[in-house]
Amino acid sequence: MKPTRSLLIVFLLPILMVLLPLFLILVLATQAIKAQSLQNYQLQSNDLNTLVQMATFDRKISDLHQRITEVLNRVAVTNLSAMQRYTEYNFINQELNKVGQSIDQLATSPLILDLSPESAVTLQRAFHQYQLFINMANGAATLNQSDPGFFLQEAHNHFSTFTLFSQQVFEELTERARDRHRDSYQVLIDLRLTTLWIGVGILALLISTAALVAWRINNRLMTVGDAILALSDSHKKLPDFHAIKRMSQRRSGSLKRVAKALMTFRDAELQRREAEHKVHRLAYYDTLTELPNWQLMKEHLARSLETSQQTSVYGALIYIDVDDFKRINDGNGHSAGDTILQHIAERLGNLEHEGCTVGRISGDEFGIIIDGLASDQHEAAGKAELFAEQVCQLLTQPYYLNGNYHFLNISQGLVLFSCPGKSVDDLFQYANAAVHIAKKTERNAIRFYDPAIQAELEARAELERDLRLAIEQQEFLLVYQMQVDNLGRPIGAEALIRWEHPSRGRISPGVFIPLAEETGLIVPIGSWVLRAACEQLVAWQAFAHTKELVLAVNVSAKQFQQPNFVQEVSHALEASGATPHLLKLELTESTVLGKVEETIERMHQLKALGISFAMDDFGTGYSSLQYLKRLPLDQIKIDQSFVRDLHQDTDDRAIVQTIIAMGRALGLSVIAEGVETVEHWRYLNEHQCHAYQGYYFCKPVAAEEMARLCLAPPPELA
Ligand code: C2E
Ligand code: MG
Ligand code: MG
Repeated sequence: MKPTRSLLIVFLLPILMVLLPLFLILVLATQAIKAQSLQNYQLQSNDLNTLVQMATFDRKISDLHQRITEVLNRVAVTNLSAMQRYTEYNFINQELNKVGQSIDQLATSPLILDLSPESAVTLQRAFHQYQLFINMANGAATLNQSDPGFFLQEAHNHFSTFTLFSQQVFEELTERARDRHRDSYQVLIDLRLTTLWIGVGILALLISTAALVAWRINNRLMTVGDAILALSDSHKKLPDFHAIKRMSQRRSGSLKRVAKALMTFRDAELQRREAEHKVHRLAYYDTLTELPNWQLMKEHLARSLETSQQTSVYGALIYIDVDDFKRINDGNGHSAGDTILQHIAERLGNLEHEGCTVGRISGDEFGIIIDGLASDQHEAAGKAELFAEQVCQLLTQPYYLNGNYHFLNISQGLVLFSCPGKSVDDLFQYANAAVHIAKKTERNAIRFYDPAIQAELEARAELERDLRLAIEQQEFLLVYQMQVDNLGRPIGAEALIRWEHPSRGRISPGVFIPLAEETGLIVPIGSWVLRAACEQLVAWQAFAHTKELVLAVNVSAKQFQQPNFVQEVSHALEASGATPHLLKLELTESTVLGKVEETIERMHQLKALGISFAMDDFGTGYSSLQYLKRLPLDQIKIDQSFVRDLHQDTDDRAIVQTIIAMGRALGLSVIAEGVETVEHWRYLNEHQCHAYQGYYFCKPVAAEEMARLCLAPPPELA
């Protein structure tokens, strides 16, 4: 069956349920009334026959009695022959028998039985009495033995009694026939009324049933319609499909197919929504912490910014950066780092503040958007700062992981928003700038965005642009700072880069090296330094007083970790023709951090070329004897910060002594940098430091100048 046809039946069913039984009732009622009418008609016609019979019988018996009387009287006065008397006798006898039969017939008619069976019997008996005397009179007359007059008189008396009685019966029969007619008519009326009421009752029942069926069908169709509506609106939550499920589990019915189709559709829709939800979560939520990601944060911030601009109520964006998170990753593995990030997210998620949205911006950076702080800028700033302090308090609590407690410091950059003209990207940039400043100031610092920061940021961007150009336009040069032995005699030099900026003049590496490291530009810059240093070594080969000088070149961690670094160094040596054992690479502890095995292997490869190594800025990082022992180092370089205040800081003295002792224990040469005074030199010399570098001996100068200074007599220690 086609669905459309079966659905048509669903709609027609309530109508059919009323019409068909109604038709049936009508037919049955008509049949019943017809049968009753027929019965009435037969009853009436029977009664009428009985009455007609009664009337005819009365007349007949009167005529007969008259005739009998005449015959019997004639017999008395005239001498009739025996044959004649016999004929008359037969005639009278026959007629009387006929009348007797009629009376017997009458006595069994339903009307007279209905009136009273006794009346019929009495009537019969009266007639038979009469008939008896007539017969006796007739017999007497026929046989001519006695006078029939006596019998005739008796018959006459009985005739009168019979006539009276039959008239009375006739009247009663007429009365009874009228009653019976009225009763049967009443029965017909009652039948019609009963039929009508039964019909009305059944009709009412049918209409109620049909209405109930129609209501149920309507309910189901409404349920189906609601389900279709819900399925068609992808933003609406899907209602429970219990009713549809029940419908689909029915044994038959057209709606079963629709319900089954809807269930299939619902399952597909659920799968689609689930997939959509997953895609949405992937696009807008961070998989590690399940916090909104940067994309979603941006959308939240756009809405917050719009509301804030409309209501003129300040909101704030807090940019949170975990300090030195690398230490956790490198020291405990990335999974530990991930767990800590999850803990941070959990703690931030527990922050209770109305209109506060927390998200993960990237790596170890989180963001919080706070709406509706205050209309007054100072008040809003106060509230935001208070909130940031709570965040700091929350995140600097120890983190328990793998049986150890870990402590974190965080830096927070805050920016308030309300005024128009600022975009979401601007706000993120400002907050980021503020967090950079916070990082530079102190531990767990909270800093608001300041326009001055912006200026610094822009200057940085400009510097980055110029730095890229500088590589192309070869604006770098190397200066050299002499390194001396215990007697102040030159033993080598450190190559230090300088940038000759076309408009800003000479720029110190302290300004551009961190930027170069951040942007990755340190890699091409470092390559250039290596090539230039090798060329300088070759140039010094030409002079006796410089040909023994060992040249130290600073190598940044990023540069050292380049996969082709070993080849690059060997290529620089080969291309220039420099002697490898005169080249010394200065590494910092950040090079080794987290990549100990790789670093050791690479250092060995380079050492195999003849190159030596110094650990620069020693004492400032997370020096660990454990790895220091394993690194194929030749020299450690005491950081100038410990040398600077040697004459007044006992701690620095202790550190310097320890570093020297450590170097000796590990069989490494120790060089001190930042030696500015003879006192520095003397102290270091007294504590068996091996070599020195500092302004006291020589400032960083051009190669020719340094070569010239090498010829000068060494300074006096005394
Ligand atoms: P560094 O390797 O520790 O270099 C020593 C720094 O101390 C140099 O600063 C030098 O001029 C300075 N210095 C030397 N003696 C004294 C002294 O007696 N007193 C004071 N106050 N300072 C002294 P510079 O040249 O500004 O270099 C700064 C840093 O920049 C270097 O520290 C090094 O880390 C980095 N750098 C310099 N050139 C290069 C390079 O070619 N490549 C890389 N990757 N980094 C470089
Ligand atoms: Mg150095
Ligand atoms: Mg140094």
